[in-house]
Amino acid sequence: DPRLKAISEAIRVVPHFPKPGIMFQDITTLLLDHTAFKDTVDIFVDRYRDMGISVVAGVEARGFMFGPSIALAIGAKFVPLRKPRKLPGEVISESYVLEYGKDCLEMHVGAVQPGERALVIDDLVATGGTLSAAIRLLERAGAHVVECACVVGLREVKGQHGLNGKPLYILVEPR
Ligand code: IMP
Repeated sequence: DPRLKAISEAIRVVPHFPKPGIMFQDITTLLLDHTAFKDTVDIFVDRYRDMGISVVAGVEARGFMFGPSIALAIGAKFVPLRKPRKLPGEVISESYVLEYGKDCLEMHVGAVQPGERALVIDDLVATGGTLSAAIRLLERAGAHVVECACVVGLREVKGQHGLNGKPLYILVEPR
């Protein structure tokens, strides 16, 4: 797809953020480039519009920057998967291991109905730990996770062809 080169180039790489040695993939510069931003959303919309998906679940915070546009275009609802103590209603929680320490994602009870077909979206997948927690949340609510989608993905994770057995769709490799 000829659009992918421009999408990749619109993502800024910030060395040593948030700590030494990390090459941070900054998608905020992609959001500044109307054509690249629209192409990114369009590629996802073209892929998911006829898959019977009724839920787009976005991972806080950068999954919120792509998920709602995709959800509106494919006729699905948007469900935010949030960090702990952000959602005001009753929640279910799934914790996951990070390089240093632990984190947790929460989803409102009742946001998803059993049997719904869901897409999980985030900006970037590294180890897959975050997406795996998102998948567990949706499955606990009885949803069927059709696929996980990220703008940026590492080759190693992509090579595994999925998380918890779920397929993973990635647009570009980190630079
Ligand atoms: P994983 O759980 O190891 O797959 O890490 C993915 C999570 O870390 C996602 O929620 C990303 O937003 C975040 N993340 C890790 N590295 C980067 C990066 O370089 N740019 C943006 N987000 C990142």
